[in-house]
Amino acid sequence: MRACVLTATELGGGIDKLAITDVPDAPAPQAGEVRVAIRAAALNHLDLFVLEGLPGGARALPHIVGADGAGVVEAIGSRVANVRPGDRVMLNPGISDYTCEFCQAGEHSLCVNYKLLGEHLQGTVAELVTVPAPNVARIPQLSPELAWAEAASFSLVTLTAWRMLFTRAQLKSGETALIWGIGGGVSLTALRIAKLLGARAIVTSSDDAKLAAARRLGADITLNHRTQKVAQEVRALTNKRGVDVVVETVGAATWDDSLRCLRRGGRLVTCGATSGPLVSLDLRRMFWHHWSLLGSTMGNAAEYAEVVRRLGEGQLRPVVDRVYPMERAREAFERLTKGEQLGKVVVEVSS
Ligand SMILES: [Zn+2]
Repeated sequence: MRACVLTATELGGGIDKLAITDVPDAPAPQAGEVRVAIRAAALNHLDLFVLEGLPGGARALPHIVGADGAGVVEAIGSRVANVRPGDRVMLNPGISDYTCEFCQAGEHSLCVNYKLLGEHLQGTVAELVTVPAPNVARIPQLSPELAWAEAASFSLVTLTAWRMLFTRAQLKSGETALIWGIGGGVSLTALRIAKLLGARAIVTSSDDAKLAAARRLGADITLNHRTQKVAQEVRALTNKRGVDVVVETVGAATWDDSLRCLRRGGRLVTCGATSGPLVSLDLRRMFWHHWSLLGSTMGNAAEYAEVVRRLGEGQLRPVVDRVYPMERAREAFERLTKGEQLGKVVVEVSS
C-alpha cells in the first residue's frame, strides 16, 4: 500500500525525513479489530513533533505518520459489532488496552498503555489502517454531507477540546474563556465549544485575517498578541477580575500571561506546549489565588461518543484549511510548520 513514512528517527531533519512510498499492507484485522481503507488523513501539531524526533522514540521503520483519518471499513475481525464492511467511519486516534484499571473505570485516555496512531503506532497517512473496533465511529449523516476531509479533521482536536473545556475546566454558561492562537485546530474547536456552552470567548492570534475569521465563528473579543499586550487587555476587558478559564496549547511563550489573565479561583487547562514545555510557577500565587492548573490529553470513549453525537446535530463541523493529494504530503507539512493554517490541513489518501 502507499503511505507517507518517516525514513529516520534521529532528532532533527523534520520534513526532509518524509517519503511517499510502498509499504506492506496494514495487518488483516484480528478479533475485535477493523481495517479501514483511508480516504483522507488530517495533520496535527503532534505530527511535527514526531518528525523532529520525540524522546524515547525508537520506532520500527518505515514509520507511517498521521493520527487522524477517515475512510471505509474494508474488513472486520470476529467479535466486531459496531461497524460492517462498507461503513463510512472516522478513527479515534487514542488507542487504549481496554483492560487496565483506568479503562475499566471508563477513563480510556488515562490508560497505562495509551498509544496514539502516528506517534507510538503506525499512522493514518496510508491506504489501510488496522485499529480496535471501539476506535472507529460511523460518520453521522449531515446536510450537506460531511466531506472525507472534514471527517478526517474531526476526532483528535474535537475530543481534545471537549475534554479540556467541558470535563476538565467545566466551563459554564456566562463565564469567560481566553483561548490562545486561534489558527490551530484545538483552539478553533475550543472556540466553538465555548460558544456552544454559552460562554464568552476572548481569542488571540498574530494574524488579523485569522482574528476576523474567528469573529465570524463566534469569538466575542479578538486580540492580536503580536501588537497588543494580552494580559493588560484582558484585565481591562474584565474590570481587572480576569477570565474564568484559560485554554493553553502554546506553553512557554504564553504561560506567564495566561496566569496574569486568570481570575481568583480560575482554571487553566493545557493540552500542549507548541512553543516549549518548560514554564515557571510561583506556588504562592497559585495557592493564594486558588488556581486550578489542569492537564488534559485526548478523551475517553463516552466523551468521543458525545462529540460524535453533537457532530450529528450539526454543532461541531470541523473547519478545513486545505487539502493536498498524498503525493504532495510534504507541502501539507510545510504549511503546518509555517502556522499559516486556519483549521485543519488534510492529506487526501485516495479518491
Ligand atoms: Zn487501559
